[in-house]
This record gives sequence, C-alpha cells and structure tokens, in this order.
Amino acid sequence: MTDTVEDVRKGLPSASAFGRLALCPGSFTMEKSCPDESSEAAAEGTLLHRYMEYLLLKDDAAEEGMEFSWHDFLNSREYESAELNHEQVELCGRALRLLDDVKEKIMGRNYSDSLFSLVSTEERRFLSDWIEGGEYSGQWDALFRVGVDLLVLDWKFGRVAVDSAEANRQLEALVPLAAQKANEEGIIYNGIYAAIIQPRVAGPASVTFYDDEAISQAEQDSLAVARAAMDPDAPRYCSEEACRYCRAKAVCHEAASMVEQASLIATDRDKWELFSPAEKVQAYRLAKMAKKWAAAVDYRFEQDVAAGLIPGFEMAPGRTSFTVTDPSGAFSALNAEFPDEVTAEAFAGCCKVGITELDRLVHAARKAADPKATTKASREWLRQLLAEYGESKTTKGSVKEVEGGAA
Ligand code: SF4
Repeated sequence: MTDTVEDVRKGLPSASAFGRLALCPGSFTMEKSCPDESSEAAAEGTLLHRYMEYLLLKDDAAEEGMEFSWHDFLNSREYESAELNHEQVELCGRALRLLDDVKEKIMGRNYSDSLFSLVSTEERRFLSDWIEGGEYSGQWDALFRVGVDLLVLDWKFGRVAVDSAEANRQLEALVPLAAQKANEEGIIYNGIYAAIIQPRVAGPASVTFYDDEAISQAEQDSLAVARAAMDPDAPRYCSEEACRYCRAKAVCHEAASMVEQASLIATDRDKWELFSPAEKVQAYRLAKMAKKWAAAVDYRFEQDVAAGLIPGFEMAPGRTSFTVTDPSGAFSALNAEFPDEVTAEAFAGCCKVGITELDRLVHAARKAADPKATTKASREWLRQLLAEYGESKTTKGSVKEVEGGAA
C-alpha cells in the first residue's frame, strides 16, 4: 500500500477530523505543514480496524458457506502479515458483542440475523453539493442494512471516551455519505442509525438515528465545517478537546500559550482545597492539555534524536518481550524436557484462556445443535457454566464529564 493519507483524502478535510475542525478550523491548514505521526497506538488502531473488518467479512462470507483466514484477508488487501495478541483478540470480541447489543437495541430482543446485512466496510466517499470532486471525504468502518434502515458504524479503540453518537461530528459527516451511497445504488431506506463502539470504554455502544430532515441538516452542517476549514485564514481556537489529536500541537502558538496559563492558576492560595470547583476544573483541563502538548513535543524531539539531529542525545535500545502463541506445542516441548515438573496441571496454571475464542468455539457447537442459538445466549450460557472456574473483574473508573462539566 503506497497511498499516503493526503493522496487518499485528495487534500480535503476528512470526517475523522471534523470534531477538531468544528472547534479549531485553522488546524486543517496548520496540520498540513506537520509530518504524519506514527505511534504504537496508531499502529494498533490500524491493526484492530483490519481485524474487525476481517471478522465482519468472515461472518458475512460464512452466511454464503465460504471461509477464509486472517492471513487470506491480509494477503487479499496486500497488507503486511500481522498477529494480534490475546488482549487484542479479546478486545475485538468485546467490540462484536457490543455490536450485537446495538442490533438488539435497534431490532428488539428477538431480532433475526437475517434482517441485518453488511453493505460495505472501510469505504471512503466524497461529498459535495457544488464542487466537482468533493468538498470533504469520510470512511466508515462498516455500513449495514438493518431492516428498512441503514446503520453506519465507527469503531474506536482508544481509552478516552469520544463524543456520544448524537453529538459526534465524525458520524454526522458520515451519515450524508452513507445516504449518498444508498441513493446512488438504489438502496431503499427510511433513515440511518449511527453508532460508535468503544470496547476499551465501559458501557454500551452509543447509537443515534437520523431521519430525512436530520440527514439533510447533517449534510449542511458538515459542508459548513469543511468550508470553514478550507479557508487559509481560518482562525485557531485552542482547547483540550480540539488539540488532543492535532499534529500541530508542538509548533502551535495557541497551544503553547494555553499550556503557559497553567502556571497562572496557582495563586497565593497554595492549597488545592482552597481552589474553587471551577478552578479545579480549569486546572484539570489545562493539565490534560499540557500532557498532550508534552507528548507532541516528545514525539518530535525523539524523531530528531533518532535522525541524529540533536547533539548530546541518542536513542537507547528497546526492550524485547516474548509471547507463547502455541500453548500445546510449548507444553509438549517442556514436558518432554521436565516430565515430572512441567505437568499438564502445572502448565495450565501458567495459561490464560481466551474467552473470545472460547465463545466462538462454544457458539459454533451450540449452533450446530440448535440453529436458533444466538451469540448472546451462547455467551451467557458459557459464563454461567464456567462461573466457578473463572472470575469477572471491573476496571477502575475514570473521570467523566457530565452535562458539560462545572462552569
Ligand atoms: S494545536 Fe490546537 S489550537 Fe493549534 S491548530 Fe491544533 S487544534 Fe488548533
């Protein structure tokens, strides 16, 4: 794959940035002068999106009695070979379970899978109402037909909750693109559901519905965001939310000025307890912003150090980790060496069972016995059966802003 992000997007604003562009239109031009950033998180996001696409296509193909493997899928797209670790497979399993919940929410508890069909995955489209070639583009992760409606879906694999589906600018920009595709391809629909599934964030998927009027409004609002961003003199407005994923942070004057403000909060009342709630909220937001700004500066500095551009600094070597990917082979090899010490029981004590893989295995077995078995019922059945052999854990909660936070 040799296409760059700019090639694919033809230099136009993309729906994935609309949340930021609505808050800071000037960031579109600012980002153009900044290099693309690569990070482990971004690489993981790409891998997880590919795996989710594979899972959806695989399920779709299974309906037609066809099968293909993860490696077949990677080869067909000319993607590099890649493996997911246990946690990543679990995460994708959770994303699919959340999708099942979305289906149930839309169709009711006794929905039938036959009312759901995949229309397309990872498709980018361009929208314009008067400029040839488009004014902005957007790529959905999946588009489904749901009975007489459509469902446009976006997976998010970060740990920070994004805007709800209702308030989400990216989905708002994708909805007119989905409508455009349906109109061009003669797909009849009443309205469009839009959903965000964030498997690393607690809680259900966020879903909203656009009727004809809302779709048309979404198109006008999205074109307005794109047009404002394309203005070379568009203003820049700094905020934690706007700057969070902006590549221009390390060089943006507005962002640096905001970080500077952090020092103004601590007045002569040098006790946290003496700050008002509003001052604490301000400090909290500035701290988040400062962390992002620091990470952006770290990233650019590290690039320069790696390129040998900063005298007195060099990159230290990274750490290597090792993962067992074939437990039964590993057990046979170790048991042959130490038959009395590495017993099946001792080895099992070192293993973790992938619940997602087990879910799939058990569901396939239950479905073979009863074609009406749903994935959700199979999951519930399995957890009940294995209750005494496993444990459920809930992670520590995180700060969440409600009703716009304190003033
Ligand atoms: S860093 Fe913030 S203020 Fe600067 S261009 Fe990006 S979003 Fe706008």
